[in-house]
Amino acid sequence: VSTNEFDLIERIRRRATTTREDVLLGIGDDAALLEVPAGHALVVATDTLNAGVHFPVETPPADIGWKALAVNLSDLAAMGATPAWCTLSLSLPDADAEWIDAFLEGFMRLAVLHDVALVGGDTTRGPLSISATVHGFVDPARALRRAAAREGDLVWVSGTLGDAAAALEQWRAGALIDPGLRERLDRPTPRVALGRALGGIARACIDVSDGLLADLAHVCAASGVSAQIDVDALPASDVLCAEFGGDARRHLQSAGGDDYELCFTAPAAAREAVETAARNADVYITAIGRIVPRTAGPVMARDAHGAEWMPGTTGWRHFA
Ligand code: ADP
Ligand code: MG
Repeated sequence: VSTNEFDLIERIRRRATTTREDVLLGIGDDAALLEVPAGHALVVATDTLNAGVHFPVETPPADIGWKALAVNLSDLAAMGATPAWCTLSLSLPDADAEWIDAFLEGFMRLAVLHDVALVGGDTTRGPLSISATVHGFVDPARALRRAAAREGDLVWVSGTLGDAAAALEQWRAGALIDPGLRERLDRPTPRVALGRALGGIARACIDVSDGLLADLAHVCAASGVSAQIDVDALPASDVLCAEFGGDARRHLQSAGGDDYELCFTAPAAAREAVETAARNADVYITAIGRIVPRTAGPVMARDAHGAEWMPGTTGWRHFA
């Protein structure tokens, strides 16, 4: 099915209806008109997904749609912000109405879940690439910044780690991908409610996209501290434990990417407040270590026996 760019935009506009009263003007003019609530800072994040780089080319379009918005909402969550609006820039190899409908199904499902209005974008012809920008609000005094970690803070992580990287590992190996792991790769859950609940309680926060050790190292560098984590305390799903054990699992959990969980620090005395915030947000969290004075390495990992542990590589690897 082929159609032209204007038909595509019309298809998008028809599905982008919103009841948000702060959208004074959405899709259809030269730009959107949006009303920011008084006393709040506008929070803006943007992320691009390129076919063959950020997702396997055979990923279903509905999953690509979901993920394109999810990775952006995850960035707002890591700031403690409330999402409100988004824009969508699409580069498409051809004007395929069926593809766009499936893509929008995933994208708009997540948008509706978070009451995010799609208020504009751009549509061009080119290699498949999706770029979304999300806008939200936060009281600047409650924003969760990378530079805010302090010595003595506990380090926490939400959900479980390593599932998405495990799915990619199975995909790379040409093995059957476990559906539970695949769901975590294709449909990550942005921890928006948790990020909001942590405002005023947690200190530093980051979302885990490149792998826990690499992302926590960003927090440590920005804060001028180091972190000591217990690699055997990292939360693992049952399905990950069933498919991977020992060092392979540790590696996926500490250095695999695409988790989109929140890693945050908070004073040890705030432990109860942190646990209450997580309960209210309905998210499982785990204390995985502590912030220590700056040492040579930004993040030191130890196993359950206290022996120093290093992954083969840190950070996200291209799967292409
Ligand atoms: P312009 O030439 O002014 O950029 P466009 O034809 O690119 O106009 O866009 C027309 C309207 O459609 C604008 O309001 C724009 O924000 C919206 N739009 C275009 N592409 C998308 C898209 N992929 N998603 C959402 N809105 C879009
Ligand atoms: Mg345009």
